[in-house]
Amino acid sequence: MKAIQITEFGGPEVLTCTEVAEPTPAANEVRVKLYAAGVNPNETYIRTGTYSFLVPELPYTPGFDGAGIVDGVGEGVGHLKVGDRVFVAALLAKRNTGTYAQKVVCDSNAVHRLPESISYQAGAALGIPALTAYRALFHRAKIKPGETVLIHGASGGVGVLAVQMAKGIGANVIGTASTEEGRSLVKASGAAHALNHITENSIDKILSLTNGKGPDVIIEFLANVNLETDLKIIAPYGRIIIVGNRGSLEINPRLAMMKEADILGLALFNALPHEYNESLHAVEAFLESGILQPEIGEELALEDVRKAHEQITSQNARGKIVLSID
Ligand code: NAP
Repeated sequence: MKAIQITEFGGPEVLTCTEVAEPTPAANEVRVKLYAAGVNPNETYIRTGTYSFLVPELPYTPGFDGAGIVDGVGEGVGHLKVGDRVFVAALLAKRNTGTYAQKVVCDSNAVHRLPESISYQAGAALGIPALTAYRALFHRAKIKPGETVLIHGASGGVGVLAVQMAKGIGANVIGTASTEEGRSLVKASGAAHALNHITENSIDKILSLTNGKGPDVIIEFLANVNLETDLKIIAPYGRIIIVGNRGSLEINPRLAMMKEADILGLALFNALPHEYNESLHAVEAFLESGILQPEIGEELALEDVRKAHEQITSQNARGKIVLSID
C-alpha cells in the first residue's frame, strides 16, 4: 500500500511517498481503509525530530487523524465491524501505524462511527482538533452555558470546532481571525461576533461587546503574542486556556492577581485515558446532533503532503487542511 514515510528528521522534503506492507490488526485493534487524513501543526514539529512529546523511531509514517471504512478487525473488537464508516483519532492510542497512508491499524478505542451526513474529508478534520477543542472548553475551562468565550484564533482546525461546540452548549461566542474570509467562517460556525485578532488597540472593542466585563473564558492560540492583552480583557475570575504558543513574552502578573484570573495550560498528550474516551464519545454525540460540522479549508492529494506541511504553518487559516487518499 501507499504511505508517507520519513527516514530522517528535517523539513517537508523528508516526507516521501512510498510502498509499504499492509499492517495487520492484532487483538483489540482495527484496520481502516482511509479516504482522507487530517494534517496538524504538531505533525510538522514531529517531522523535525524536536517535538517534546514525541520523537518517533524511524522509519515513521506520520498522522493521527483520518476517516474511511473498517476493513479488518482483531479479536475482541465488539463495537465495530468490517464496512463501518469511521473516523480515527489516534493521538493517544497505544498503537497507530500512521494515517498518512492508504490503511492504518490502531487501537479500536481510537476509532469511532462517522455519521452518513459527514464526508470522509470532514471526518479526517476531527481527531486532534476536536479533542483539543473539547479539552479546552470542558476539561480545562469548565465552560458553562451563558458564559462568554473568546476563541482567540477561531478560523483554524481547532478554532472552528471550538466555536461550534461552545455555541452548541449555549455559550456566547466571540471569535477572531486575521482575514475577511476567516471571519466569515467564524460567523458561519456560530460566533455572535467575528473580529480581527485582539491587540492593545482593540481592547475597547471587546470590552464593549461584553458590557465592559470581558470574556469569562479565552481559548488562546498564540499566547506568546496575546497573553498580556488577554489578561487585560479577561473578566474577573476568568480563565485563559493556552492551547497554542510559539515563543516567550513578558507579562505583568499583577493583571492576573487583580482579577484572580486563572491561566491554564493545555497539552492534549496529557489527557488521561478516561478523559480521552469521554472526549471521543462527546465528539460522536456532537456529530450526530449536528453541532459539529468540520470545515475543510484545503484538500490536497496524499502525494502533496510536503505542500500541506509548508502551508499549515505559513498561511492564514480557513478551516482544516486534509489529504485525500485514493
Ligand atoms: P491552524 O489550523 O493552522 O490555525 C491556526 C489559528 O491560529 C488560526 O485560526 C489563526 O488565525 C490563528 N492565529 C494566527 N495568528 C494569531 C494571533 N496573532 N492571535 C490569535 N490567533 C492567531 O492550527 P490548529 O490546528 O487550529 O492549531 C492551532 C494552534 O494550537 C497551533 O499552534 C497548534 O500547534 C496548537 N495546538 C496545540 C495543542 C495542544 O495540545 N496544546 C493541540 C492542537 C493544536 P488566522 O490564520 O486567521 O490569522
